[in-house]
Amino acid sequence: MNLIEKVAAARNWNDDERQVLEQVQRMTDEVIAPNAEHIDETGEFPWKNVEAINALGLNAIFVPEAFGGMPMSYKLYLEIVSIISEACASTGIIYATNYHGMKPLIDFGNDEQRARLLPKIAEGGLGALAITEPTAGSDATGMKTSFTEDGDDIVVKGSKVFITNGDVADRILLFGKWAGIDDARKAISVLILEKGMEGFSVIGKEKKMGHHGSSTCALAFDNIRVPHANLIGNPGDGLAILLASLNKSRPSIAAHARGIARAAFKDMVSYGNERVQGGKKIIEFQGNQFTLADLAGELAMVERWIDYVADIVDGGGKDFGMEASLAKLRASDLAMKMTTECVQFYGGYGYCRDYRAERLMRDAKITQIWEGTNQVHRQLIGRSFREK
Ligand SMILES: Cc1cc2nc3c(=O)[nH]c(=O)nc-3n(C[C@H](O)[C@H](O)[C@H](O)COP(=O)(O)OP(=O)(O)OC[C@H]3O[C@@H](n4cnc5c(N)ncnc54)[C@H](O)[C@@H]3O)c2cc1C
Repeated sequence: MNLIEKVAAARNWNDDERQVLEQVQRMTDEVIAPNAEHIDETGEFPWKNVEAINALGLNAIFVPEAFGGMPMSYKLYLEIVSIISEACASTGIIYATNYHGMKPLIDFGNDEQRARLLPKIAEGGLGALAITEPTAGSDATGMKTSFTEDGDDIVVKGSKVFITNGDVADRILLFGKWAGIDDARKAISVLILEKGMEGFSVIGKEKKMGHHGSSTCALAFDNIRVPHANLIGNPGDGLAILLASLNKSRPSIAAHARGIARAAFKDMVSYGNERVQGGKKIIEFQGNQFTLADLAGELAMVERWIDYVADIVDGGGKDFGMEASLAKLRASDLAMKMTTECVQFYGGYGYCRDYRAERLMRDAKITQIWEGTNQVHRQLIGRSFREK
């Protein structure tokens, strides 16, 4: 066993978790991995992969039992994100976005909302999380989408950009500002949009560097009448819900990046043991060994750190914002570094589409940008050391 295989083998899954992981690995090997190149080339939404994920009931593992789920540990959820993302980053982010969009409803919705809105997700519906607007990227408080109370409804007007699953989601967790509250931070509120609501439209789909199978949409809300019953918490609760939710979606983004990094590392090891130049396998060159050693070390640390954050969450911890930021920051920087080195390791073949190294590098870049750019995470972590 090499060092990375030993790190993986040392993780202590219980029997139920082990069984789920074996099923996920089999499904990934049989369905998702063979489909990855095709969806990257065509940009088709990978419905076949979503069906395979749903055949295993993988959304159910993060939905409470009372609302149709079969909950298992957060650590297991993160590992599933990594396994799927290792095979196909697009499918990994589609699955993870269900969690990112629906976890705030699970944690902050009332029982009526959860009973009405979650069973669809537990049985395989798609979720989305809609925060970003043209004027509100890193600074979410700049959002302009408005929520105006009118009788039993809330009238939603505005637009969002860059929304993953935006065109296919059954439920969209939507952030906007409550009309009548002037303070930008105190006005942020959150509600659930359901598929088919009148006034909802998809006005654009991005053409991207990578993640071609995952749709990234611009959405418009033209006076959508959303029942008041779909408001999560109270008007103005949105920012607190957003911050608490990001703490759980950021490790999930880290797990997605970890999957990409694992794929690139495995490819480097196998190519290094196969490709011969100057009469030697390229893994025999000391410079390449140093590269592998450094990357293996970083991957091992990222693996352990993500598990550490997961253990805090599974143990009921509440104060883990910096730990979550660090996981996101280091896993995504590693995914970019690992995939760049992977392309280099493959020489000219790495630059061409015959091998997946090129796709991995394109897929890795966004992990440093979404769910808070890495500059923002460095700033969050750095300023936590300021003395009060
Ligand atoms: C493929 C894709 C999928 C996405 N999916 C979703 C989704 O599902 N839901 C959603 O709501 N959003 C989504 N996003 C949006 C994503 O989260 C934002 O793009 C990201 O938060 C950055 O915002 P921005 O693009 O407006 O960049 P800006 O905020 O304009 O940043 C521009 C540059 O300035 C830097 N910068 C900005 N503020 C600071 C600061 N305070 N300190 C230091 N540097 C700073 C940034 O790091 C960056 O380099 C997605 C984006 C993409 C491309």
